[in-house]
Amino acid sequence: MNIMMKRMKDKIKDKKCKMTSQRQVILRAFVESDIRHMNAEEVFEIVKKMSPDIGLATVYRTLDLFTEMDLLKKLDFDDGCSRYELNDRDNEGHFHHHLICMGCGKVWECQDDLLETLESILQKRLHFHTVDHQLKVYGYCEDCEKKREAEQGEHE
Ligand SMILES: [Zn+2]
Ligand SMILES: [Zn+2]
Ligand SMILES: [Zn+2]
Repeated sequence: MNIMMKRMKDKIKDKKCKMTSQRQVILRAFVESDIRHMNAEEVFEIVKKMSPDIGLATVYRTLDLFTEMDLLKKLDFDDGCSRYELNDRDNEGHFHHHLICMGCGKVWECQDDLLETLESILQKRLHFHTVDHQLKVYGYCEDCEKKREAEQGEHE
């Protein structure tokens, strides 16, 4: 069995939650998909092929449940719909950051934390102990930035 699938199933067992076949299919959609950040409709499209009797409402419910159980992270990339991704880290360490391109809407991930300085300042000045944080960085990817430069050149 896929290591990720096994880890997720262990998590479910720990939470004393029943792993129904529908839940299993929805989890598989995340483990096996190449798309890292999926909205409910995208999950539904994949799940339908494996198990045609699942409805969109079940997908929504299960995504909420998995988020509560910490199997999934719920994300908001400001495009009007929630996205989900596997919470594949072990219990320590921080969740990765997301870089969002304002041109094409693509999302990149940055695995490095890079916020240690901020965290130590928060600790020192505000006596706030950071456990985790999520960062969204807005900007333009390499391709979109090139296009923008070219367009600006035209107007000069
Ligand atoms: Zn872009
Ligand atoms: Zn991500
Ligand atoms: Zn951090």
